[in-house]
Amino acid sequence: MDRTKISWNGWGWAAHKDDVAANEAAWSWLAEELGMPSLLATPARALDDIALAPSRLDPSERAHFAQVLGEDRVRDDAFERAFHARGRSYHDLLHLRAGNLTTAPDVVLYPRGTDEVLSVLSFASDNNIAVVPYGGGTSVVGSVTGDPGVFKAVVSLDMSGMDRLIGIDPVSRTATAEAGMYGPALDKALRAQNLVLGHYPQSFEFSTLGGWIAHRGAGQQSSRYGRANDWLVSAKLATPRGLLTTEDFPASSAGPRITDLVLGSEGAFGVITEATFHVQPAPETSVYTGFLFHDFASGAAAIRRAVQEDLPVAMLRLSDADETHFYRAYGAAGKRKGIGSRIADAYLKYRKFGGTASAMIAGFEGDKATVERSRNRFVDIAKQLGAMAIGDSTGKRWHQGRFHGPYLREPMMDRGLGVDTLETATSWSKIDALYAAVKKALEDTIRETAPRPGARGVVACHISHSYPDGASLYFTYIFPRALDGDVAQWLAIKRAATDAIVAHGGTISHHHGVGEDHLPWMTQEKGSLGVDVLRAIKSALDHKGILNPGKLIPK
Ligand SMILES: Cc1cc2nc3c(=O)[nH]c(=O)nc-3n(C[C@H](O)[C@H](O)[C@H](O)COP(=O)(O)OP(=O)(O)OC[C@H]3O[C@@H](n4cnc5c(N)ncnc54)[C@H](O)[C@@H]3O)c2cc1C
Repeated sequence: MDRTKISWNGWGWAAHKDDVAANEAAWSWLAEELGMPSLLATPARALDDIALAPSRLDPSERAHFAQVLGEDRVRDDAFERAFHARGRSYHDLLHLRAGNLTTAPDVVLYPRGTDEVLSVLSFASDNNIAVVPYGGGTSVVGSVTGDPGVFKAVVSLDMSGMDRLIGIDPVSRTATAEAGMYGPALDKALRAQNLVLGHYPQSFEFSTLGGWIAHRGAGQQSSRYGRANDWLVSAKLATPRGLLTTEDFPASSAGPRITDLVLGSEGAFGVITEATFHVQPAPETSVYTGFLFHDFASGAAAIRRAVQEDLPVAMLRLSDADETHFYRAYGAAGKRKGIGSRIADAYLKYRKFGGTASAMIAGFEGDKATVERSRNRFVDIAKQLGAMAIGDSTGKRWHQGRFHGPYLREPMMDRGLGVDTLETATSWSKIDALYAAVKKALEDTIRETAPRPGARGVVACHISHSYPDGASLYFTYIFPRALDGDVAQWLAIKRAATDAIVAHGGTISHHHGVGEDHLPWMTQEKGSLGVDVLRAIKSALDHKGILNPGKLIPK
């Protein structure tokens, strides 16, 4: 991965140009939706104009790292330090775009093997240096922020140099890889053997195996391939106390599973250097298709019915009415309505699909017979709940653009807008109340913190991961930025939404993790005894607390 081609203060490939972003009519439409007379120009600062504080690392310590790793794998130029200063959440981008690089690490190290990682950790632990493990840096919860805390310097330990597929066990259907492998490289290496892991988060192109495990993440097709806790078999965790190699039995009753400690450990317990995971045959076929439900509740009922009868689906992604409306109207803004879309509108009206209509993309992957059977059964379920099939071309379009959505964030931020996402999960019996409470908290706080009277937000939601007992809710919210205090505005919105989540029985995160951003609610979720257990595990593995200080575990 050539990092210089990736944006240091935004999303993805620096050279990416988005068609929708170039459509001026879409921006006028959005301004009106948000109650703004026009949008502003708020460009990001260039790296050349930003002064970085000098590295706090002692020259003799730097020389030690250069001796262990080689000079070319010890980097402290401005680009490397800025690139590793933060993750890629809206909150991170606010700081990066404003040129606030106070969280930049003092040095970035690129190890090439477990022994090198162990050596770095042992030296850092002896010399009071904090170490932040870094995969692709796509965290959206403030979990790679270089906060020195009580330590004298911060090292960003970039795992992208550890990027080999170590081996495949075709008999047991498992594979072992180094943790720094990026999504596309891992997928390519497995597909060469006609296998897949099947973990495709929206950040797939820029995130790594180690980051997926450390954040206990979920790919878009989690209904078929599982989330990190389903596919991880075992791991090697380098710690300041030495190497922890976890068990790799298919099942065991020998006490709690140590592998589970690695999942969601957010770089605070150790550095994952290698992982063994389940793989599956590459799907013979995949079908993505669209449905329109009369409302969110009937779409959710269809998902619940499908997962509770264990229907083999890859993905059921249901947008609420606001999300359905937003994507349709934003994409269509400024375009003349052809005869085809006028007929489609009339037909929807005739079928009584009004303002509450909710779109769903249903995905099926696997062998042809299973895909056909499960698709047919889902069509039955959807129809019983009043849905209309809107065809495979809608599904195909979603699949083709499944990693592109995040590129819209910067054009919005360039125009005085804020755009963020948050997610949670709860049981089916609580989902309606949770949905309503979070939506209201977001809408109210956006209105209260808006830069002018009458300005408002767009708050959209979808269900994207579902289980027999419940599902996740993923909110996207777009709002006019309060330019005289945009970080405080973000914090107020985040607080209100997370308080509503906790009060209505949702988890503080379904797949993004804890990091710094969710830390204030961690004790409410785990209980103080639960947090004590996490603290005890950390102190057993990282007795001086050098690993990713200030994340995962409340003080
Ligand atoms: C636009 C966008 C879309 C996203 N979509 C999804 C999605 O669909 N599903 C999802 O689950 N997440 C999603 N995320 C969140 C993020 O991509 C995931 O959390 C991802 O797993 C992080 O991987 P990474 O390699 O970038 O890790 P990083 O961001 O580098 O690190 C994340 C955490 O893991 C730790 N870590 C990283 N590597 C290691 C290692 N080898 N050993 C120990 N600790 C390590 C870090 O210290 C940090 O605490 C999205 C993020 C963005 C910005």
